Amino acid sequence: MAVMDPLDPGVASGHLILSGLEKVFVTRKSSVRALDHIDLSIAPGEFVTLLGPSGCGKTTTLRIIAGFEVPTSGDVLLDGQSMLEVAPDRRPMAIVFQSYALFPHMTVWENVAFGLKQKKLPAAQLKEEVEQALTSMGLSHMRDRAPGQMSGGQQQRVALARAMVMRPKVLLFDEPLSSLDAKLRVAMRSEIRRLQRRLGITGIYVTHDQGEAMSMSDRVVVMNDGRIEQTATPVEIYRHPASVFVADFIGRANFLKVDDVHPAGDGLARVAVLGEEFDTQSAPGATLTHSVLLVRPESIRLAPVAEQGIAGRVGRVLTTVFYGESVEYVVESAQGNITAVAADPHEADILVPGTWVEVGFDRRRTWLLPAGSQGTDLADAGYRAV
Ligand code: ATP
Repeated sequence: MAVMDPLDPGVASGHLILSGLEKVFVTRKSSVRALDHIDLSIAPGEFVTLLGPSGCGKTTTLRIIAGFEVPTSGDVLLDGQSMLEVAPDRRPMAIVFQSYALFPHMTVWENVAFGLKQKKLPAAQLKEEVEQALTSMGLSHMRDRAPGQMSGGQQQRVALARAMVMRPKVLLFDEPLSSLDAKLRVAMRSEIRRLQRRLGITGIYVTHDQGEAMSMSDRVVVMNDGRIEQTATPVEIYRHPASVFVADFIGRANFLKVDDVHPAGDGLARVAVLGEEFDTQSAPGATLTHSVLLVRPESIRLAPVAEQGIAGRVGRVLTTVFYGESVEYVVESAQGNITAVAADPHEADILVPGTWVEVGFDRRRTWLLPAGSQGTDLADAGYRAV
């Protein structure tokens, strides 16, 4: 039976496992626990995003995978073999940086050919591979330019071509789109996904842009303070976040105070919120005494009423912001400030500040969460209770 050699680029696989990764940075005056036991298994060809606030450990995780950083403990396994003893340039991986990291004195062609020359590829094959990479990235006509003569988006395309020409098993992305303007970033998201899918390479993408993570990923890994809070598909992360931290980090969130909770079987809970009693889906760990109800702003319904005075479900519109495709309201209520978003608003239906409204919501879109779970304080997560 043939033994699989993960360093042989001819073997198509790319199953990456991070096992119990810990990283403590020791400086002269203090030590920082950047990673606190990271376990993650990424399937061959999967595209996974590491997402989280600044300092949560995303870059450290990526740098350990690439071999630029050594973990304090734990292992990085690619197709069953530890990478820890393998030098960065010997790992079957390529990395695309925010800063492009192109050689400024070389042409586009030379930049893309560089890695293959190091590998001492026969000249004819090298030429063919470089031509193919340039063509697929739409760069053939720029082959003789220096990076300094190109736009940011074009330079990032060169960086992608340079990475893919090496046929890595794992492609690492360190905030590659952060320097580009908003429109180009959106265009490049699908370009990166198209490329990664076509080549069947495992992709790990670091970002703190939730839009990027949600639109590109098979699975999103939400990190907080060196730990993984949740790993799930974008839909699952948005609809069924594991914690208040995840709910608040991904998208916009209202956390409504729950007056009464009872178990209702099948993972459901019977709750009383804003004077209504109904069954809602519930996250593991939500307790009868210490839970909040997540309602996304687009699930909140506002109906003008004649009544005045903040009580029960009646509140008052504080602000109205028109975005074209939607209107966003902040409503003062007995539950604190509630954010509501109405899509595709008709001009006559837009509620002006001061309007008295009844606050309702789509019950099917609610989710009961442990309050302040996993070390996250509701106050930190933007809980706006009275
Ligand atoms: P950002 O989005 O700001 O890049 P991040 O999630 O990528 O943040 P890391 O760069 O991985 O976070 O840093 C995690 C923690 O480790 C932070 O507290 C950071 O200050 C610390 N850290 C990172 N590199 C070092 C280092 N070389 N020496 C000491 N501390 C470090």
